[in-house]
Amino acid sequence: MAKIQMTTPIVEMDGDEMTRILWKWIKEILILPYVDLKTEYYDLGLPNRDATGDTVTVESAIATKRYGVAVKCATITPNAQRMTEYNLHQMWKSPNGTIRRILDGTVFRAPILCKGIRSYVPTWEKPIVLARHAYGDVYNNVEEKLDSGEKAYLVVTDKEGREVRRQLVHDFNGSGGVVQGVHNCDESIRSFAHACFRYALEQGVPMYFATKDTISKTYDRRFKDIFQEVYEEYRAAFEEKGLEYLYTLIDDAVARIVRSRGGVLWACKNYDGDVMSDMVATAYGSLGMMSSVLVSPDGKYEYEAAHGTVTRHYYKYRDGETTSTNSVATIFAWTGALKKRGELDGNGELVAFADRLERATVATIEEGEMTGDLIPLFHMEGVTPKKLDSEQFLRAIAKRL
Ligand code: NAP
Ligand code: MG
Repeated sequence: MAKIQMTTPIVEMDGDEMTRILWKWIKEILILPYVDLKTEYYDLGLPNRDATGDTVTVESAIATKRYGVAVKCATITPNAQRMTEYNLHQMWKSPNGTIRRILDGTVFRAPILCKGIRSYVPTWEKPIVLARHAYGDVYNNVEEKLDSGEKAYLVVTDKEGREVRRQLVHDFNGSGGVVQGVHNCDESIRSFAHACFRYALEQGVPMYFATKDTISKTYDRRFKDIFQEVYEEYRAAFEEKGLEYLYTLIDDAVARIVRSRGGVLWACKNYDGDVMSDMVATAYGSLGMMSSVLVSPDGKYEYEAAHGTVTRHYYKYRDGETTSTNSVATIFAWTGALKKRGELDGNGELVAFADRLERATVATIEEGEMTGDLIPLFHMEGVTPKKLDSEQFLRAIAKRL
């Protein structure tokens, strides 16, 4: 067959360990035979980040601003152990953090559902997409431990540094304790709100947002008000599509989510998103089935798997053993990027190819061929699941494609 042509490149961010191996195979087995793939390649593997003083990460993010669509492989965020393992010059920051700062984006995580793999919450028939605000609150806090007899104040100064307001947080007479200062910025909340409303509209799903504004009457109330203001810009489009925007209290949101059938975008404050994204991901089964996209307020997209580089599997692979590593989320990162590129370029062939690749991937699992992580989760009458190794699984998809 003639290969599908592309007009604009996708920014390709290569990564580390087992996912770097899967990356190469996905391209070779599932994409290159069918698509005349155009990418601008950036090697975000840890050795190259170290060799370039991490400028490669910054350059890849800037390229994403230019082209609008990127696909990223999982990467190592170095810690002390990686410093010696890779003989690093510096403990480089998380590439995802760097890219997110440059794109000022919001991360949306969505599970990939297959028949036979039941959620731990059986009523969740459709994906719950979770958006986490990735700035401020407890993640950019200052905190202190106080001794008995000390007092903590919240002090506000004006531009010239003159004190304008002062509130007692607590008088620690009698017992020492702890105090914490947190903040958030209107601009960050606003761009988070835009990213969420835009995503919900694009996906055609209703949206929930929740805080605890009955208790936090100024801080959380600010989030609620900004979301409401921003929603007014999207209200007509939501109503036209028959989509609901619901603001509620966080505890009520949790109850609604558990009772729901899924099919909703859940926008969360930073801490709620940290906790709830792990709960939602676990409930849907395997980390290998969770996809993720970073969307900037001006509509740039970076697609990736939600999991890491699967180090334990990589060490086995390196020792010559075969692994059974789930490539579904990484495949969906590619299809997400190809589909978005196709939509932006009016390239229907590319969109259709991405859809077919997704369907072939899901069909492979639904017909009983899957990686080891899914075997204990799979239940379908008349189908005995068969465990394939990493490469066999990709070939089983290719057969259907
Ligand atoms: P991980 O790579 O997500 O793996 C944790 C465990 O989850 C694996 O050992 C494996 O369990 C299971 N798992 C995850 N993905 C799987 C898949 N696709 N197929 C089968 N099983 C899968 O997390 P980690 O071990 O904590 O982190 C490893 C490295 O990844 C770290 O250097 C970290 O910095 C990096 N990381 C990167 C990103 C990113 O780039 N977005 C995100 C998270 C972590 P079993 O071992 O039981 O099979
Ligand atoms: Mg978490």
